[in-house]
Amino acid sequence: VKKIAVLTSGGDSQGMNAAVRAVVRSGLFYGLEVYGIQRGYQGLLNNDIFAMDIRSVGDIIQRGGTILQSARCLEFKTPEGQQKGAEILRARGIDGLVVIGGDGSYHGAEKLSKLGIKTMGLPGTIDNDISFTDYTIGFDTAVSIVVDAVNKLRDTMSSHERASVVEVMGRHAGDIALHAGLASGAETILIPEMPFDLNEVADRMRQNFDNGKRHSIVIVAEGVGKGDDVVEAIKKRQPSLEPRATVLGHIQRGGSPTPFDRNLASRLGDFAVRSLIAGESNKACGMIGGEMILTDIEKVVSTKKKFDKDLYELAARLSQ
Ligand code: ATP
Repeated sequence: VKKIAVLTSGGDSQGMNAAVRAVVRSGLFYGLEVYGIQRGYQGLLNNDIFAMDIRSVGDIIQRGGTILQSARCLEFKTPEGQQKGAEILRARGIDGLVVIGGDGSYHGAEKLSKLGIKTMGLPGTIDNDISFTDYTIGFDTAVSIVVDAVNKLRDTMSSHERASVVEVMGRHAGDIALHAGLASGAETILIPEMPFDLNEVADRMRQNFDNGKRHSIVIVAEGVGKGDDVVEAIKKRQPSLEPRATVLGHIQRGGSPTPFDRNLASRLGDFAVRSLIAGESNKACGMIGGEMILTDIEKVVSTKKKFDKDLYELAARLSQ
C-alpha cells in the first residue's frame, strides 16, 4: 500500500482519537500518504476525504469522541453503495483503509476488501462485545466512569440505607456491568449472560440489610432490561428497600480516555498500519494476553465473544 485512509464508524468510544492519531503518525512514519474520512461510511460516499499530516492529529490523544466524527449510513449496506465507496477510494489512489468501529463497521470493511481495497478493523466500542480481542477501545474508560458513579451513589445510599439500581450500557453484552460491578463491590450484577430471579435478588438484598449492610447496589446491563423495571420488581417484593434507579446513559461514552485505552488504541493503530504494509487485508486487529493479533473479519463477526464466567462467580463470592 502507498496511500491509506482512516475512518471512525458506528457508536463512538473514548480512545478513537488516540487510534486515529496512531494510524496517521505510524502511516506517515513508514512513508505512506494518510487520508482522513469524515463521518464514517457516509463521508466516504460523500467523498469527504482529506489529507492528514503529523500536526492534524495533535492534541487529541486525551480527547473523547472522534475528530473524524461518526455516522450511520444505510446506503453503504447496499452492494451499490459499497461499489461506489470502493470506486471513490480507487479514484484517489487509496488502496488501504483502517476502520475503527464495532461489528457493523467490520461488515463494511469486509465488503470493501472483496472489492479490492485492503482493510483493517480496529475494535472501537465501549461494549467490549467484539471477539478475538480481550478488550475494545473505550471499554476501560466506560468501566471507570461507572465505578466513579457507583462510588458516589454508595455514599448517599449508605446515609439513607437504601438500595440503588444502576443501569449501564453494553448493548447485548454484560461486560461493562460485570467489570464495573466487580470493581465497585456491587452486591448484585444482572447481565444477559446469566439467568436471575428478581424476587430472589430482592430477598437477598433485604437479608443483607438485616445482616448489617448499609447499602445495596444492583448493576443492570441494558441487555437485561431497564433499571426502572428492576426497581419496580424489587419494590413489589420488598417495599422497605426503597430502591432508586440511576441510568448513566451516554455519559459512559464521553470524557478523556484512560491511559489503558490510549495505549491500547496506540498499539492497535500502529499494528493496523504495519499489517497493511505487510500485505494483510480483511483482518481485525486485537490484543490477546498483551499480544497484538490479526483475525479474519469474517471469523470475528461470526463468533460470539467468550463470557468470563469465573469473573462473574468471583464478583458473587466477594459481594456477600
Ligand atoms: P457500535 O456497536 O458501537 O454501534 P457498529 O460499527 O456496530 O458500532 P453500526 O451502526 O452497526 O455500528 O455500523 C456502522 C456502519 O457500518 C453502518 O451505518 C453502515 O454504514 C456500516 N455497516 C453496518 N453493517 C453493514 C453491512 N452488513 N455491510 C456493509 N456495511 C455495513
